[in-house]
Amino acid sequence: MIREAACPRCGEPMVLSENKPEGEFRFVERHRETPPVARDIVYGRCDACSLLVVDVAAMERTQQQSRDDILDAIDRARRARAIFDRGHGDSHAAMTELARAFHALRRIEPPGIEPWAPDALWGWLQQAAASRHELACAHFVLSVWDSRGPAGTFDAMAALAGWDRAHRAAFIEWAREPWWP
Ligand SMILES: [Zn+2]
Repeated sequence: MIREAACPRCGEPMVLSENKPEGEFRFVERHRETPPVARDIVYGRCDACSLLVVDVAAMERTQQQSRDDILDAIDRARRARAIFDRGHGDSHAAMTELARAFHALRRIEPPGIEPWAPDALWGWLQQAAASRHELACAHFVLSVWDSRGPAGTFDAMAALAGWDRAHRAAFIEWAREPWWP
């Protein structure tokens, strides 16, 4: 049994129970995995912001995964900058590492990432069956490579609105001290 958990919306401690709490909630977050696993789930109730969390353990697993993904993204984006080394390093290897800072690109493995081949990646981007947010990762790294080319149309506001925290972290780490090959 989980003993304590913070509200994912406001950070206040939640009241935990094994039975579904009564009452009206303005917000409900369901973290119960599908198909549901055979175990007792714990509900979390936040009175401060009227939130009900269904399956606190699953929520915490997701949060932990997201923390690991964020640290990994920052790490890789930093490494990419170090490899670029103010233009004295290997800019192709730096682009490969920057692309890998985006977990969607690590998972999908589109062509053109290693070895870095922007034309191949751009070709993939034009006809890929991937989500808008996944495509935005490729579009971003291509715009770093050539901001004056066709990839210069990368829309940071649209990307940031759709990206998860790990993708945003990779972008922010690059933007903190941007570099252009
Ligand atoms: Zn709350």
